[in-house]
Amino acid sequence: MASVLIIGAGGVGRVATYKCAQMEDVFDEVVLASRTLPKCEAIAGFVRERLGKKVPIARVNAERKDELVRLLRDVQPDVVLHLALPYQDLVIMDACLEAGCHYIDTANYEPPDEPRFRYAEQWARREDFAKAGLTAVLGAGFDPGVTNAFCAYALKHHFDEIETIDILDCNAGEHGLPFATNFNPEINIREVTQPGRYWENGRWVQTKPLEFSRVFDFPEIGPRKAYLLYHEELESLSKHIPGLKRIRFWMTFSDNYLKHLEVICNLGLHRVEPIRIKGVEIAPVEFLKALLPDPATLGARTKGKTNIGCIITGRKGDERFTRYIYNVCDHEEAFRETGAQAVSYTTGVPAASAAALVANGTWRKAGVWNVEELDPDPFLARIARFGLPWHDEPFQPLD
Ligand code: NDP
Repeated sequence: MASVLIIGAGGVGRVATYKCAQMEDVFDEVVLASRTLPKCEAIAGFVRERLGKKVPIARVNAERKDELVRLLRDVQPDVVLHLALPYQDLVIMDACLEAGCHYIDTANYEPPDEPRFRYAEQWARREDFAKAGLTAVLGAGFDPGVTNAFCAYALKHHFDEIETIDILDCNAGEHGLPFATNFNPEINIREVTQPGRYWENGRWVQTKPLEFSRVFDFPEIGPRKAYLLYHEELESLSKHIPGLKRIRFWMTFSDNYLKHLEVICNLGLHRVEPIRIKGVEIAPVEFLKALLPDPATLGARTKGKTNIGCIITGRKGDERFTRYIYNVCDHEEAFRETGAQAVSYTTGVPAASAAALVANGTWRKAGVWNVEELDPDPFLARIARFGLPWHDEPFQPLD
C-alpha cells in the first residue's frame, strides 16, 4: 500500500482527495496540504462524512522549497500530487528530488509575470529525476492528460501512423452568473488571450487570439462554436507522436463570455505585469481574480455537461480512417458526488488515477514524462472505473 500527498485545496484538489481516498486498492494514506488550512479542513470533513476516511491535513506555502522539503520528510509520501498552481511546479519538483518522492502535476510551469506555456524547464529536470530513480508525470489532468492518453491509445490500438489530431474541449455548463471562469481565472484568462497557435507540417502557425472558429456538433450537448487556441499538450504531442502532420486545439466559449473578455482586455485587466497603486505592486489579473467568483463556489449552481476529446485521423496499412475518442461529464452529477463541478472533476479523476499508477508501480519509470509516453491502457481503464467513462467511435476526417 502507498501514500500520496496532495498539494492544493481548490476544486481539483477536492476531487483528487476524494478519489484517492476511494482508491483503496492503492492508497492507505491520503494527506492534503495547501496554503489556506480551512480549505483543507472543509475537504477533509467532506471525505470523512462521505467515505468515513480520515485525511490528515497540513498548511504549506509551496513557493518555499525548505518548507516543502520539511513537510515531505515528515509525511514521507510515495507520490506528491501537485494541484496548486503552475507557478509552483519547479519548486515542488525540486523538493521531490530532495526528499525522494515521485511527482505528478496537471499544468506546465508558468512564471508568474510572463505567460509561456512551455515544458522546457520541467523537461530539463529529466536527467535529475532519472538519476534519482524517481518518476515525474507532467500534465495528468484531462487536457492535458486524458487527451494525451487518447492519442497514445489511438496509436496503440487503431493506427500504424497518426496524421492529424484535433483536440476539442466543450464546456456547456451554465452557472447563471454574468461572468466567471470555471477554473483559476489567472490561468484561464492567460490561456485565452494569448495568440493562437497550431502545428502543421513540422512548424508552428501563429494566429491572432480567437481568430479561427468553427461549429462542432458535440455528442450529448449539440452544436457549439469552438475557437482555435494554443494549449500546452500541443507541444508534447507534436514531439512525441511520430509522423504527425497537424495538431490543433479547439475550445468553446459562449458569446457572453467573449463579450466580458473583450472588455477585460480593453481595460488591460488581463495583464500580468504588475502596476503600482498607492505604493502597492499588483498584477491587474490578480486584482481581477480577487473580484471574480471563486471557481470552487460555482459547482453548486452549474448545470449542463462537458465534452472533451480527440478527433484523430491516421492510417492502418492502406486504410485511412478517423476516430473520435471523448468523455462526457455532467456538472450536477460531479457536484453531487464530490462537491465540485465537472471541470474540477474531469481534472481530479485523472490526476488521482495517475498518482495511483505511479504509486503502485504501473507507471514507475525514472525520468520526467508526458502522459502520451506512458501506457494509456491502465490509465484509461482507471479513469473509467472512477467516474469518467469514455467513447471511441468512427468519425469523419476534419479539413
Ligand atoms: P484553484 O485556484 O481552485 O486551487 C488552487 C489551490 O492551490 C488553492 O487551494 C490555493 O490555495 C492553492 N495554492 C495556491 N498557491 C499556493 C501555494 N503557494 N502554496 C500552497 N497552496 C497554494 O485551482 P483549481 O483547483 O481549479 O486548479 C488546480 C490546478 O489544476 C491548476 O494548476 C490548474 O491550472 C490545473 N488544471 C488543469 C486542468 C487539466 O485538464 N490539465 C484543468 C483545470 C485545471 P488558496 O486557497 O490559499 O488560494
